[in-house]
Amino acid sequence: MNISENIKKYKNELPEDVTLVAISKTKPIEFVLEAYNAGQRIFGENKIQEMVDKYEALPKDIEWHIVGHVQTNKVKYMAPFVKLIHAVDSLKLLKEINKQAKNNNRLIECLLQIKIAEEETKFGITIEEAEHILNSEEFKRMHHVKIVGLMGMATFTENENQVSNEFSFLKKHFDFLKQKNQDFQILSMGMSGDYKIAIANGSSMVRLGSSIFGER
Ligand SMILES: *Cc1c(COP(=O)(O)O)cnc(C)c1O
Repeated sequence: MNISENIKKYKNELPEDVTLVAISKTKPIEFVLEAYNAGQRIFGENKIQEMVDKYEALPKDIEWHIVGHVQTNKVKYMAPFVKLIHAVDSLKLLKEINKQAKNNNRLIECLLQIKIAEEETKFGITIEEAEHILNSEEFKRMHHVKIVGLMGMATFTENENQVSNEFSFLKKHFDFLKQKNQDFQILSMGMSGDYKIAIANGSSMVRLGSSIFGER
């Protein structure tokens, strides 16, 4: 894998309005630095401890995203620096993020993870649950979190039609919710195997790991 070549390739290939998050989970600091030196500034991890370790070791102008499921009791470790939390799936978690952001005098941006895949194992909530959170009095009283959009993971399948349908379902609901939620601006969908289909269906942020850094 030539990491800097890959970063340059995606910078050329991706449409201008699609943000690349380089998913560096399980990969060493040196790999992240190579991507950084090729100009990449946005990185994503799925484990909080690993993200904290990398944050401490790497240049401070990196924007860190957490893309995996977040345990409430670990929010405090990333609250001082995390830029975007991709997988918020409950009001309880949002409340804790708000509390820890307040403790750090920060505003933390969040995406609600919607379950669009048919697989049982994937995390996420329904559109109805997302609306419930967005319309709740509790959320309206939180001043240290901002819900800036949605995230979704499609079914892991060769069936491109199915993947496309799942992404377009999310895009449709994103556009609908955006009408009432002015902060909505990010639709995070697409990984190494399906980012082209995601972009064709309106993704504004792709999360690429193995296609940049190699298989895990
Ligand atoms: C690991 C991971 C990715 C990147 O997956 P690749 O297939 O390696 O591109 C994207 N999103 C989430 C939530 C992940 O956990």
